[in-house]
Amino acid sequence: MRWSQSLIPTLREDPAEAEAVSHRLMVRAGLVRQLAAGIYVYLPLGQRVIDKIDAIIREEMNRIGGQEITMPVLHPAEIWQQSGRWTAIGEEMFRLKDRNQRNLCLGMTHEEVVAWLAAKEIRSYRDLPQIWYQIQTKERDEARPRSGVLRTREFLMKDSYTLDADEAGLARAYNAHRDAYCRIFDRCGLRYYVVESDPGMMGGSGSHEFMAPSPAGEDEVALCARCGYAANVELARGIPLRPEFPAWGREMVPTPNVRTIAEVSALLKTDPALTIKSLCYVARVPGEAGSWPVLALVRGDQSLHEKKLVRLLGADLRAAHPEEVRAQFGASVGSIGPVGVKVPIFADECLRDGVYVAGANRDGFHLKGVRPGEDFTASFADLHVVQSGEGCGECGGTLAVERAIEIAGIFKLGTRYSVPLGTMFLDETGQERPIWMGSYGIGPARIAAAAVEQSHDADGIIWPWSIAPYQIHLLPVNTKDPVQAETAEALYSELPNAGYEVLLDDRDERPGVKFKDADLIGLPIRVTVGTALVKDGVVEIRDRRTREDRRVPPQDVVAAIQERAQELSRA
Ligand SMILES: [Zn+2]
Repeated sequence: MRWSQSLIPTLREDPAEAEAVSHRLMVRAGLVRQLAAGIYVYLPLGQRVIDKIDAIIREEMNRIGGQEITMPVLHPAEIWQQSGRWTAIGEEMFRLKDRNQRNLCLGMTHEEVVAWLAAKEIRSYRDLPQIWYQIQTKERDEARPRSGVLRTREFLMKDSYTLDADEAGLARAYNAHRDAYCRIFDRCGLRYYVVESDPGMMGGSGSHEFMAPSPAGEDEVALCARCGYAANVELARGIPLRPEFPAWGREMVPTPNVRTIAEVSALLKTDPALTIKSLCYVARVPGEAGSWPVLALVRGDQSLHEKKLVRLLGADLRAAHPEEVRAQFGASVGSIGPVGVKVPIFADECLRDGVYVAGANRDGFHLKGVRPGEDFTASFADLHVVQSGEGCGECGGTLAVERAIEIAGIFKLGTRYSVPLGTMFLDETGQERPIWMGSYGIGPARIAAAAVEQSHDADGIIWPWSIAPYQIHLLPVNTKDPVQAETAEALYSELPNAGYEVLLDDRDERPGVKFKDADLIGLPIRVTVGTALVKDGVVEIRDRRTREDRRVPPQDVVAAIQERAQELSRA
């Protein structure tokens, strides 16, 4: 490709709204443009990256027996009503009506369509197992689209679905996908963890996420270096260090104008780990009338993971309004506590014993010497957010918490969708049984963004060899110099014959601009044809990652690149 004839609109300045490195660099390198919040145009270089990722995904899906299909973006409401997700999923789903006032939605995932298709087409155990996949556009009405292509409202996804006769078959299909996903991410040059995760709205009996460590990630994972335990903090279990408990008797202490745990601890000269944080929520089961208040307790030095409480209660939660708190506890939000209250109390496991400071349910006062079990009763469960340094729940080692980008998720759905949608088959004895399903998703754009997050420097992107938009950046410094131009043109014809994809920067631009752009778009190898050609009869082959230069005569360029390419494609 000749740059002079391409749409590669690089930018010198960072886009104003961009925070994540990948967002800044993908816009500046001319890979994407934002049409509206969370809706992106992929420009030619961005499209080439996605195409390469898709090709790797297709190869690995086909290798495990996947069959590619295409399912529609537009779905009738009925199948979603049958699965129960028409009401269970809230405003994240784009819904619309057709001209006859029939309800439709835009697909954010395709379990319902697969279950419908399998119900129609699979008759007997002889038709199983099956693996169906697609690489298709999904629509999701994100509340806060951000971080460039990491969190968007329209996105490409490879989603696959497995159909099996029994649980053992599902386990085999699940493991095959897990292995295939590892190969995909290895080939894309990503660092990643496979972690236990919460299946959330997908339902089913087990799930894992593939997480690419990056400060731009919206998830956190807890990792144990000793035993290999790895889980999303949404469900990770850690054992906090136990504080030294003092021999407090129970007393009411004045705490005027004190609202937060930090303020209470400072005033009473107490370790925050010896205080109880009391949080009032209003719980409500979706689709049902009525709601009820609950009091959640975590240790003062920790925070509540709301999702853990949501899972425990099987209900949606919202923080209680200050006036609801006052009506229930007779005190303001910063002064409530568990002693003498009538609402159901859910406390983090580490509060089972010990002695603490807690709100007194009286403005301006706290209770010192509160003993769980004696002064209040509660249901104990794992509710706190795991922090780095906590003990591993599996082996007692030390947990580290790291930020990460979710690049894939795999789910054992079991019969969650086949039962409501009537997706049955006849077994060997002629008996009708539900099909066991699995669901597996990868976001190609997230792979691209994660690669940029993990592989860049101050000057721009450093593409892994396998997903670079082109492999070779051919840069004649002065296109008006006939010797440079001729040599560059000769290499431009020669390199594709050796199997390389070449971007020729044939623009009549200042050298500084061309070098800056080369670093910014980050192709793995740059071949510079400049004054060294006239002076010493050589061109420069530069490795984008190491910035190491090799000077070779033009006739040796292909051999030198072959050598380097072998190293890069193995890395
Ligand atoms: Zn461990």
